[in-house]
Amino acid sequence: MISNKMETLLKGNSVIRAMFEEGKKLAQIHGSENVYDFSIGNPNVEPPEKIKEIINEILNSESANLVHGYMNNSGYEDVRESIASYLNKKESLSLGFENIIMTCGAAGGLNIILKTLLNPDDEVITFAPYFGEYGNYVNNFDGKLVVVPTNIDNFEPDLNTLSIAITPKTKALIINTPNNPTGVIYSSTFLENLGNLLEEKQKEFNSNIYLISDEPYREITYNSAIVPCILKYYKNSFIGYSYSKSLSLPGERIGYVVVNNDMNDFDNIISSLNIANRILGFVNAPSLFQRVIARCLDAEVDIDIYKRNFDVLYNHITDLGFTCVKPKGTFYLFPRTPIEDDKKFCEDAKKFNLLLVPGSSFGCPGHFRISYCVSYDTVINSLPAFEKLAELYNL
Ligand code: PLP
Repeated sequence: MISNKMETLLKGNSVIRAMFEEGKKLAQIHGSENVYDFSIGNPNVEPPEKIKEIINEILNSESANLVHGYMNNSGYEDVRESIASYLNKKESLSLGFENIIMTCGAAGGLNIILKTLLNPDDEVITFAPYFGEYGNYVNNFDGKLVVVPTNIDNFEPDLNTLSIAITPKTKALIINTPNNPTGVIYSSTFLENLGNLLEEKQKEFNSNIYLISDEPYREITYNSAIVPCILKYYKNSFIGYSYSKSLSLPGERIGYVVVNNDMNDFDNIISSLNIANRILGFVNAPSLFQRVIARCLDAEVDIDIYKRNFDVLYNHITDLGFTCVKPKGTFYLFPRTPIEDDKKFCEDAKKFNLLLVPGSSFGCPGHFRISYCVSYDTVINSLPAFEKLAELYNL
């Protein structure tokens, strides 16, 4: 018999994953070229060529016992030092290797942070729409996810609404910038005001409220949009970073957590993250890819490939009459559904072999997500299907 917690999870199993499986079935029936699967955020842009070269170089030049061995649970010190120096240069910070914990992607990073911070019934706030897994991650440690809506005209969070949601039980706030699914990037003004509000609330409740900025899309931005660095705006802040999207390496499970220098209880937090990495069963981030990343810190994927998909799809759907806040980054669009029932809308889309994810999976019904990290051919071939969908709803 499985646990009660897992029983609940089985029932609510991820809509996105289910759709991914459904896409594979539809492809068998209609041919993959006739199925337009915009359901999952699995990058289609190839990782930089340099990754392959560096893997070979490492395998040929470094000791096999080093490359494949255990190391400190927080990761190799030289790798962490390289990442710290890279961030220091880029953002004018003063981090050392001890501020960096290597993790199994962003998911691993968020889980070790939450393991470190949460007591049962502690509250973790996030803004809707949000990456649905946050609920599961918080539930792993018996915390409670509190969802604060944003203004659907621009997906900007409202700090007055946030202020009301913060209680003495609030232990953390998770933000995600650039945001999955909206593509919104939080401005420096917003982050400064957010930092000030959290400082005030800490004083009011005599508590520690930790800000976790989940940033796997940090490098996927358009028209030179900047993602301001949260560490400058709030002392008790973490960054959860991942190379899953920025270098198209989601299967390699590699990322890191940055712990801000001036964080309260810094030493205990660092030690706890180290233990959490071990006892959650990650033990450490993958060894080979830690070594690869340290030598590819300036590598980039070709963002123009995503930008081309973005332009075609955004222009097409808005011309058809869909309303969509224009994203500044990521590879997602999050338009409104023409009816309230977003699940019915996404079911109807399947009639035209279009796989779209309902906004309710992100705590924001009345919307749908298009994940356009797919081939340009898929984008072009899907355009008539979007036309038929718009016709169905008399747009
Ligand atoms: N956070 C957000 C907002 C995501 O979109 C994803 C993956 O889609 C993750 C975290 C998990 O990323 P990773 O594969 O690095 O664990």
